[in-house]
Amino acid sequence: MRILVVEDEKKLAGFIKKGLEEEGYALDVAHDGQEGLMLALDGVHDLIILDINLPKMDGLSLLKEFRRQKGKTPVLLLTVRAAIEDKVLGLDTGADDYLTKPFSFQELLARIRALLRRRADVSPPLLQVADLTLDPARRLVSRGNDRLDLSTKEFALLDYFMRNPGRVLTRTMIAEHVWDYDFDPMSNIIDVYVNYLRKKIDAGRSPKLLRTVRGAGYVLQVD
Ligand code: CA
Repeated sequence: MRILVVEDEKKLAGFIKKGLEEEGYALDVAHDGQEGLMLALDGVHDLIILDINLPKMDGLSLLKEFRRQKGKTPVLLLTVRAAIEDKVLGLDTGADDYLTKPFSFQELLARIRALLRRRADVSPPLLQVADLTLDPARRLVSRGNDRLDLSTKEFALLDYFMRNPGRVLTRTMIAEHVWDYDFDPMSNIIDVYVNYLRKKIDAGRSPKLLRTVRGAGYVLQVD
């Protein structure tokens, strides 16, 4: 997780940077609004912590311009003014949350975690076929209420099937999407892995989802 801090008070910026780095985040710091906007527009950050009172360009103008240029990164505003209008204005401008100075580091951490969690919730979506669910972000697979334990290869294979429900996938297609360049087309490794996967998702359950299409390949389907 990479965070951008736009804060002109060097001491505070340094304190936030040091604290968050100790928590395992990667940090970039900008000390004025123009530099902050430039870095924000790189689009590489998972979160932006933005002070309102900044030299060269204030935080709200930065935020407005950032959103106008389609910047999607969640923004946590820092304000000294506890005035309700400032908060409303900030949220209207496109901030996701705000924190009033002075704040404790624990409070900052809690807000950051909440914003990053909210972001993880919206992307990427769960893949679902019948009662089989694959969560690409958390790398979890379940059927009904049962969590399934898949190997890395089985997971990659299932991910490919679930992105193409109802479509017959040939061995060549599977090899290109799931195996690397060292794959030996003469081997039966795909059939072996499809069978491993089938055992995990279909054995003892109905309906059977992963089927063989004779002479063609395999298909994941409901009916
Ligand atoms: Ca400031």
